[in-house]
Amino acid sequence: AEAGAGRCRLSKIGAGRRPPPARVRVAVRLRPFVDGTAGASDPPCVRGMDSCSLEIANWRNHQETLKYQFDAFYGERSTQQDIYAGSVQPILRHLLEGQNASVLAYGPTGAGKTHTMLGSPEQPGVIPRALMDLLQLTREEGTEGRPWALSVTMSYLEIYQEKVLDLLDSTSGDLVIREDCRGNILIPGLTQKPITSFADFERHFLPASRNRTVGATRLNQRSSRSHAVLLVKVDQRERLAPFRQREGKLYLIDLAGSEDNRRTGNKGLRLKESGAINASLFVLGKVVDALNQGLPRVPYRDSKLTRLLQDSLGGSAHSILIANIAPERHFYLDTVSALNFAARTKEVINRPFTNESLQPHVLGPVKLSQKELLGPPEAKRARGPEEEEIGSLGPMAASASASQKLSPLQKLSSMDPAMLERLLSLDRLLASQGSQGPPLLSTPKRERMVLMKTVEEKDLEIERLKMKQKELEAKVLAQKAEDSKEKENHCPTILRPLLHRTVTVAKPLKKAVVMPLQLIQEQAASPNAEIHILKNKGRKRKLESLDAPEPEEKAEDCWELQISPELLAHGRQKILDLLNEGSARDLRSLQRIGPKKAQLIVGWRELHGPFSQVEDLERVEGITGKQMESFLKANILGLAAGQRCGPS
Ligand code: ADP
Ligand code: MG
Repeated sequence: AEAGAGRCRLSKIGAGRRPPPARVRVAVRLRPFVDGTAGASDPPCVRGMDSCSLEIANWRNHQETLKYQFDAFYGERSTQQDIYAGSVQPILRHLLEGQNASVLAYGPTGAGKTHTMLGSPEQPGVIPRALMDLLQLTREEGTEGRPWALSVTMSYLEIYQEKVLDLLDSTSGDLVIREDCRGNILIPGLTQKPITSFADFERHFLPASRNRTVGATRLNQRSSRSHAVLLVKVDQRERLAPFRQREGKLYLIDLAGSEDNRRTGNKGLRLKESGAINASLFVLGKVVDALNQGLPRVPYRDSKLTRLLQDSLGGSAHSILIANIAPERHFYLDTVSALNFAARTKEVINRPFTNESLQPHVLGPVKLSQKELLGPPEAKRARGPEEEEIGSLGPMAASASASQKLSPLQKLSSMDPAMLERLLSLDRLLASQGSQGPPLLSTPKRERMVLMKTVEEKDLEIERLKMKQKELEAKVLAQKAEDSKEKENHCPTILRPLLHRTVTVAKPLKKAVVMPLQLIQEQAASPNAEIHILKNKGRKRKLESLDAPEPEEKAEDCWELQISPELLAHGRQKILDLLNEGSARDLRSLQRIGPKKAQLIVGWRELHGPFSQVEDLERVEGITGKQMESFLKANILGLAAGQRCGPS
């Protein structure tokens, strides 16, 4: 316990100079075509450019490709050794310095995550290679006579539907993730097996792998629906004083598939699994984002996966995310989404398309992807989930039959009209360029006409709805205006502005020039404006509103000369802005505009467009030239008064 307390003290001292969050390195691995025959007839929709960047066809614009840049790019010819030596091996030595590291394989099911992490006996992946090297390293570093004694343990768990399950103990239930006082993440009760040789490792690892929860989806018979987490701990104890201890953790993670579950045809339990998996992956994305952007809050606690990785992602940890992608065109959408996930904090550059082999007529992936994108979810909505029927077919068969079985019309008729239009116009463009390839919408002419008509009808319907909405809005406004008129009859709200003014303009009163004229007159007549107005409620209302007949004017005609030209122009502009942008309610903040006039102004504006000058107000029904003059005077002088008095 004493040692523990000592450690906690130590960590507190160190806490002040915590290293800044480390960036998560991102590598992308493109696997080769798995079907030996493909490649020539089914050109890849993605290709590498150099050791860090790749480009992918842009389905939105076939003239362009999207170019992505990462810390490393491994093309289809890269070997298991290339990935291991290039991105994983360099971080292993940090484990002996007592730092943590993690390697995560991300990507859609079938893109090569398990191949990258585990591999096969002929092509061992990251896990066996890292274990071999680490065990070798610890043996060498820990031999008698060296300062540190080293030991290695392994744990193996999976996160399935946000539950943490021990794969080395099939009887265990959901385990809890805790954090100790030093900020280390631990899982009490998780099995830890000491390993001294690679044979030891295999003895525990291979049977446990079989315990993994795997299920069949349309994309891959053995697609993993859970995150498989292999934890390798390297413990070091100093042989001589001061007998320090160090612990380095390495997480090797084969993440669950990142594919969109709507496209894999998952239903029921599978859909639920996908949802949970995607939530975890979603948070992982946010965590990587936050770390790479140096955001103050990293949402580790939002999912089990990221909570577990809290001390091994960011901080002084060394992390690499390997995004696995596939070249086949039916992976196009998943590939784009995996690349976007991986590149969220990196630049995506649009650049003109240059490769001959990816010119429009061979841009199959674009065509197929659009169908895949817009087909199933849309079609599902129209047909209901029970009619999904390609579930038992393999990945290739699935995409082939998807385009045969579902009539294009059936799928496209439920498509977004904007998208339809876009595809149709793209088709026209391709045809005008003399493209020999099949149209993007491979529909017969007659069906096209039907589609065009549908689009047109939808446009008309939208117009009709817009008109209806306008009518309803006008009705509501009219109703509101009536309501507030009634209210006004019951309580004289006009008292408020006057009360306010009696205070703020008490002094400038002598200068007269900054006051709305009718106010000055009233104040001069009675020092107690409140009582005066109460007595003269009826008269005041007349003064305030243009709706009522114009009251007699007593002010001088040369009011415009009393204020500076700038103020005059400013005042006019302010009024004009209100006339053009103000709601009926805003308009009523103008002197002499009552509810009825405000309504008229809004209506006029909707019919005729914006007012070009304040005088246009005369064209609004019922506003005469004389009223206009008095309106301008009241408002501009009011504004001027407001400006000169300042915010007193
Ligand atoms: P995931 O784990 O992402 O679902 P897998 O690793 O199971 O994908 O890969 C799917 C298929 O592709 C497997 O048959 C695998 O052997 C093969 N494969 C994946 N990556 C490669 C590669 N780089 N070279 C050769 N075959 C690969
Ligand atoms: Mg897998």
